[in-house]
Amino acid sequence: MSKVVDVVEILKKSEALLEGHFLLSSGKHSNRYVQCAKVLRYPQYAEAVLSTVVDQIKGLDIDLVVGPAMGGVIVSYELGRQLNKETVFTERKDGVMELRRGFEVKPGAKIIIAEDVVTTGKSTIETKEALEKLGGEVIGVACIANRTSHDIGMPIYSAIKLDIEVHDADECPLCKEGSIELVKPGSREFKEIGM
Ligand code: ZN
Repeated sequence: MSKVVDVVEILKKSEALLEGHFLLSSGKHSNRYVQCAKVLRYPQYAEAVLSTVVDQIKGLDIDLVVGPAMGGVIVSYELGRQLNKETVFTERKDGVMELRRGFEVKPGAKIIIAEDVVTTGKSTIETKEALEKLGGEVIGVACIANRTSHDIGMPIYSAIKLDIEVHDADECPLCKEGSIELVKPGSREFKEIGM
């Protein structure tokens, strides 16, 4: 039985994807804001959204799913559950991404990295390097949202390719247009707009 999953609808319903006019921590403004942890609050939504990624990778030869903490942990678990594969996570120790807690990579193990969102790919690439040092072979990254605009050196399998317009504050078209109030995600004002 094939099922149709409306990823955008689920992300909006769970408030993981917001549309409007947002002040980012960088000081820049954007028209969309994504917080994947919000969709992972609901296991049934996590299952549905990530089933669309599983459809893309289930034919691959995978031994291990590895999610860098924090963002990748739940994604990794859910992918591993659906694929029936071992799932572990890496974490930072003194700023360095490492596999800890007695987790192991068998020599030549085919690994999928799991992330909530891939933007610059920096942490994904760090994770890949850490796993390859241990003898694993990273075959790609699976994520909820792919925000990259460049090649990160491995295939990206995502539930959604997300384009978010980011502008410098003094060049923001939403400010110029003036009809949508600027809000800071997570702030009190933000909650008051009732999304
Ligand atoms: Zn603006």
